[in-house]
Amino acid sequence: MQTREPGRYIGRFAPSPSGPLHFGSLVTAVASYLQARANNGLWLLRIEDIDPPREQAGATDEILTALERYGFEWDGEIILQSASAAAHEAALSSLLARQLAYRCRCSRRDLVDAPRGELGIIYPGTCRNGTADGEAAIRLRTDNTEIAFDDLLQGRIVQHLESESGDFVIERRDGLIAYHLAVVVDDEVQGVTEIVRGIDLMDSTPRQIWLQRLLEYRTPRYAHIPVITHANGDKFSKLTGAPGIPLQRVEQTLLEAMTALDLRPPPELAQATLQDIWNWARENWLIGKLSGLKSIIKTA
Ligand code: GLU
Repeated sequence: MQTREPGRYIGRFAPSPSGPLHFGSLVTAVASYLQARANNGLWLLRIEDIDPPREQAGATDEILTALERYGFEWDGEIILQSASAAAHEAALSSLLARQLAYRCRCSRRDLVDAPRGELGIIYPGTCRNGTADGEAAIRLRTDNTEIAFDDLLQGRIVQHLESESGDFVIERRDGLIAYHLAVVVDDEVQGVTEIVRGIDLMDSTPRQIWLQRLLEYRTPRYAHIPVITHANGDKFSKLTGAPGIPLQRVEQTLLEAMTALDLRPPPELAQATLQDIWNWARENWLIGKLSGLKSIIKTA
């Protein structure tokens, strides 16, 4: 494995095994991979397997098989998020010990009348001052400090968490560590310097930056790439029935993913090997072409 010397770019792709890789997730993988390689960086592969109720049997193997077939070469071992449970728990304990987080017994039903904003329910703070016994979620306290970051592609993003999301869940009622906490801990532990991911996660970033601040972590750079949609505007996702990417004639699908990223492969690449396609893409990758784009229609 290449070394992680200071200053080195470290990127990652972090799929959840909730289904096979579909075209939209392939595009994200290609973008984060090319961005890491174009920066002479490392590209880590982390399987975010800490939400068993949402997982689909066999999905991890399907994802790995697809990534291999498409010629992705990750650095180091495959990282399973579930292996970092101790680090997640340590972060949670530290937040609780400093009273930056608290136990909350509110059920979904308790919150039906809560105000809603663009990020979903705005938690009204019901359990902020009480000690909740029994089964409870853990929420992180927020305030109205301005949380801002300059996304490489989407510009300046600003949120005020207390009024836009309210205190948010970092451990669920069922005892599972919530995505925001796990992703922040893992990116820190793994030394990730830049996160290239889909724009559907951009709204989550200020909550993750808030966690980074409270845990005294570094904040990586962020580049949120446009979502890939069908011609009717629906995004590729399991919910819209997006199928897994084909495992045959992968060159063609890879070129389609690159085209979606505005790479414009020359026609002769249609006959090229996977290796030649990747070499060409690495030379020609310019993430800036996606600046300001929120969605891209898959035409092919
Ligand atoms: N595991 C998340 C997903 O598959 C991605 C997490 C991230 O990139 O921050 O949607």
